[in-house]
Amino acid sequence: RAKEDGRNAVCLFSKDMHQKIEDNLRLQMLLPGAMEDEQFMLYFQPQFDQHRNLIGAEVLLRWEEPQQGFVSPDLFIRAAEESGQIVPLGDWVLRKACAQLSKWRQQGLPTSFERLAINISARQFSLDDFPFRVKAFVEEAGLQPADIELEITESMLLNKRDQVIEKMHLLHDMGFHIALDDFGTGYSSLSYLHTLPLDKLKIDQAFIRDVGEDKADRAIVETIITMANLMELDVIAEGVEEEYQLKYLISKGCIKYQGYYFAKPMPADVFASSYIYDAAESRSAK
Ligand code: C2E
Ligand code: MG
Ligand code: MG
Ligand code: MG
Repeated sequence: RAKEDGRNAVCLFSKDMHQKIEDNLRLQMLLPGAMEDEQFMLYFQPQFDQHRNLIGAEVLLRWEEPQQGFVSPDLFIRAAEESGQIVPLGDWVLRKACAQLSKWRQQGLPTSFERLAINISARQFSLDDFPFRVKAFVEEAGLQPADIELEITESMLLNKRDQVIEKMHLLHDMGFHIALDDFGTGYSSLSYLHTLPLDKLKIDQAFIRDVGEDKADRAIVETIITMANLMELDVIAEGVEEEYQLKYLISKGCIKYQGYYFAKPMPADVFASSYIYDAAESRSAK
């Protein structure tokens, strides 16, 4: 943008910045009321293996603001992080997601279903009592920690790394699975990756998007898959939209996928009618 706009670049740039800051502050102000008004809901995006078995789902938060409609999670999660609202909001997500999984388990999830993946923000994770909080939510719902996969990002390892790693160990010892989200986009050095108590790498969708044309992206994807295999970690590809991407991933030995090619994130009732035995039966009986 700066290049194209020539001498107006500085001016346009600062206007953009100004707008973004204003939008962010407005979202920050709306968040507490939105929680009280119950404007948030959980969506679920299914995950599959190479035989099209349902192996899990990622919980994705949605906010339908009465005036603006759906607000992008990238924007409101950032606003919630900055205002601190992510803590009560994140607790709400955890509690609600655990209750939902518990209900689905009772109704009959396919046996291939391993666990529910929940995104955890840096600020949430940094709370001293985070491991005990999440354990409490899991127990409250009658679940086991192994029913839940916590998705964290490499950026969390930039600050207070020792404390973060200690907490990862604690959670892992409790039985939670830990996935590194958006893998490949961060700054983490590969040399200490094998020392982390990780279960899974999620290949960022940016690399999957261009595996058709971009040699460098293919190299990255293949390196991540090889590395995961050597380190005995699970690996899942995010953002699989096209059949050729799936075929490519299968040929490289990646056997877990998430993306629009299979299904978009969906509300709980839609998920249930597609994947839960009882719900599907009662719907077709109607
Ligand atoms: P993420 O955790 O990397 O989630 C994957 C994002 O990719 C989701 O965007 C999902 O809708 C989108 N996606 C899935 N398949 C495809 C595909 O095939 N093509 C494309 N183009 N996109 C696909 P979404 O729902 O907008 O969420 C954006 C980000 O917001 C998430 O990225 C996550 O970082 C954050 N987020 C969402 N829900 C929560 C939450 O409950 N807590 C926290 N802390 N963060 C959340
Ligand atoms: Mg995620
Ligand atoms: Mg991701
Ligand atoms: Mg993301």
